[in-house]
Amino acid sequence: MTRSAEARIDLSALRHNFQRVRQSAPASRVLAVIKANAYGHGMVRVAQALEAADAFAVARLDEALSLRSAGVEKPIVLLEGFTAADELAALAQHGLETVVHNDFQIALLEQIRTHKPIPIWLKIDTGMHRLGIAPGNAAAAWNRLQACGAVAKPIRFMTHFANADLRGDARNAAQIAQFTAALAGQSGERSSANSAAILSLPETHADWVRPGIMLYGVSPFTGGRAQAEDLRAVMTLSTQLIAVNRHRKGDAIGYGGEWLCPEDMPVGVAAIGYGDGYPRHARAGTPVLIDGVRVPLIGRVSMDMITLDLRARPDTAIGTPVVLWGEGLPVEEIAECAGTIAYQLLCGVSARVRSTY
Ligand SMILES: *Cc1c(COP(=O)(O)O)cnc(C)c1O
Repeated sequence: MTRSAEARIDLSALRHNFQRVRQSAPASRVLAVIKANAYGHGMVRVAQALEAADAFAVARLDEALSLRSAGVEKPIVLLEGFTAADELAALAQHGLETVVHNDFQIALLEQIRTHKPIPIWLKIDTGMHRLGIAPGNAAAAWNRLQACGAVAKPIRFMTHFANADLRGDARNAAQIAQFTAALAGQSGERSSANSAAILSLPETHADWVRPGIMLYGVSPFTGGRAQAEDLRAVMTLSTQLIAVNRHRKGDAIGYGGEWLCPEDMPVGVAAIGYGDGYPRHARAGTPVLIDGVRVPLIGRVSMDMITLDLRARPDTAIGTPVVLWGEGLPVEEIAECAGTIAYQLLCGVSARVRSTY
C-alpha cells in the first residue's frame, strides 16, 4: 500500500526552540503564538508540549475554544479580537483574553455586561497599518476602556512590527519610537516582539514577547537559516518513492512538458504534491533528500506526485523515503525555491498528511 505523506513533529526540538526564546528574552514572559494549527504542527499537541509557556496566542475564537475543550487552561489571547457582542460572552465564559484594536470594539465593550471582566490588550498601530488604534488616539481609547466595567484592569498594550525580518531596517526604530511616544507616562504591561524582534531587537522585549515561527525551528529573517539562530526544525515532511522509470533523451516530464531529459536517465516519482501542501511553484532544481543525498525536482508539481532526477541515485528502490523539508533540508530553502516564505509552507500542509509526534 502507498503510505500517505507524513509530517513528523519533533516535540523535543519545539522545547529546545522555546528555550532559545527564554535565553534571548530572559526578563520577559512568553506568549507562545500557536494560531493556524500551530503553523501546521497541530495546535493542541503543541500547546500540551509547551507547558513552560506563560500564555498562548491564537488568531480567532474557534481556535481558543478548541484549546479550552482539549483541557488547555493557560491564558489564551485572541490576536484578531472580536466583531460581535455574543463573542464577548464566550470570552468571559471561557476566561479568554482579547486584543482590542478599534473603536467599534470599544463601543461593544461599553454596551455589554459580563459576569467577569475580560482581560484586554490595547493594540496600537505604530506603522504596520493593519490592526490598531492610531498613536494619537491611544490615550482616549485607554480612558474609555479604563471606565468600562466589562474590561479587566490593568489594561495591557501591544503593537506589531511590519519589517522586523529585515535586520537594521530604519522602520523598526521608527515603530519603536512611536510605541514609546504613544504610551509615554502610561503604566501597564507592554508587548511588541515577534520572533524576528526577539532575536534582533532586544530593546523591544518588554513584559511579554510573542514568538511564532522561531518556536517551529525556522529563521524569521529574510534569507536566513534556522541553524544560524540555533533553532531546530520541528516538522520533517516526508513521503516515499512509488516509481523509478527510465526515460530517453528529449522525453518531456509531466504536465506542460517543459522539462526535457538531457540524456537517457532514471526519473523517480514521489507520492506528494500540492494536494498535500507541497508548493506547486517549486521550480525545477528544488532539492529533496533521499538517504541524505540531495536530488533535484524536475517538471511541474502535480496534485499527488512530484518527479525527480535520479541520476545521482540511479539504484534507489521503490519505497525509499523522500524528505521534502525538515531535518537536513531547511524549509527556508524550499520556500525560496517556490517563491514564498516558510510560514506558508508549514501552514499549508493539508489534512491528507498524517502527523506523528
Ligand atoms: C503571528 C503573530 C506573531 C508571531 O509572529 P512570528 O513572526 O511568527 O514570530 C506575533 N504577534 C502577532 C500579532 C501575530 O499576528
